Amino acid sequence: MSEYTADTSFIDLAAQQSLIKGEINTAIATVLDHGHYIMGPEVQQLEKALQDFTGAKYAITCANGTDAISLVLMAWGVGVGDAVFVPSFTYVASAEAPAVLGATPFFVDVDERTFNLNPESLQIAIDESRAAGLNPRAVVAVDLFGLPCDIHSISAIAQKEGLKVLVDGAQSFGGRLSGRTVGSMGDATTTSFFPAKPLGCYGDGGAIFTSSSEDAETIKSIRLHGKGTEKYDNVRLGVNSRLDTIQAAILLQKIKIFPAEIVRRQEIARVYEARLASVAITPSIPEHCSSAWAQYTIQVPEREYTMKALGELGIPTAIYYPKPLHKQSGYMSFPVVSGGAPVSERLANTVLSLPMHPYIRDIEQLATQIAGVLHKIGSA
Ligand SMILES: *Cc1c(COP(=O)(O)O)cnc(C)c1O
Repeated sequence: MSEYTADTSFIDLAAQQSLIKGEINTAIATVLDHGHYIMGPEVQQLEKALQDFTGAKYAITCANGTDAISLVLMAWGVGVGDAVFVPSFTYVASAEAPAVLGATPFFVDVDERTFNLNPESLQIAIDESRAAGLNPRAVVAVDLFGLPCDIHSISAIAQKEGLKVLVDGAQSFGGRLSGRTVGSMGDATTTSFFPAKPLGCYGDGGAIFTSSSEDAETIKSIRLHGKGTEKYDNVRLGVNSRLDTIQAAILLQKIKIFPAEIVRRQEIARVYEARLASVAITPSIPEHCSSAWAQYTIQVPEREYTMKALGELGIPTAIYYPKPLHKQSGYMSFPVVSGGAPVSERLANTVLSLPMHPYIRDIEQLATQIAGVLHKIGSA
């Protein structure tokens, strides 16, 4: 069999763009014509489209996915003395947002099969935060690699303990759980439109979803310098975190093809699963759950060697994430659940993400090739 030599990019944004280039150009030209670069009509149109897609009562766009987390925590009044529980195995922004507000990110371990926050570890961390004199306020429940977290168990603990649940859906826009779409779960959900996320724009962007009209109003005010009812009326501390009109115009075109892209990601994941399950630990998807497949991440013992062997065949791979947050020098001073977070540490040493995007041309051939490499390494 011939080697896989097709244009295997890790994420192929060019293929998507070529599909809708005309629509994107027209959408951008329309913004240049009307000239409302800040909070133009496309921003409102996108917020409506995001509400329709997610089933959330309110969708509020903002400058990026990190700000989205901060805006929610600010609206909830989270700050100094408050503990915010964050899985240690995630992108740094999940912990950075509470830390910058003066709150204490409290690191919790993850589940070894789903990579998402482990509810038992969360319960232990909550008790320990109280013993340490902190005020447990919120949990940042991350949907890692696109897989919705165990929101039912997390919400049950949060309700009992009086915590708010913020779902960090930066990677999971388009995912589903028990008939609900990401954006309609938790007290608030945030997402990111960074170009490489499942729904990405051509720059930075983010959004917040909530069913609370009060939170929605507060978040809209904070996004605009704490604006009150009049233009130069500032009723609270805020920030400047608006989504550019041009990015909204681009997203309005991209969201049209997004449902088909999610279907295609599912198909790719199915082929990977069929080909790789016998030679690596493949992602485990709980019942009633569907991932947005931001990443397809396997666990392999000989990671460096595997990366090198795949690289020699022109197959790119990436490591998300090589170091858990509680081991990062910028975050080592923050508390971690007792016993550390051994699962996060182990995953950081074994995970390997494979090419995943809706425009992989010959997934059967690619998956077969990867399986061949893994088989050879496994039996060596
Ligand atoms: C990308 C990401 C963010 C931050 O989004 P930005 O738009 O890059 O600020 C937050 N949390 C997670 C889990 C992410 O993957």
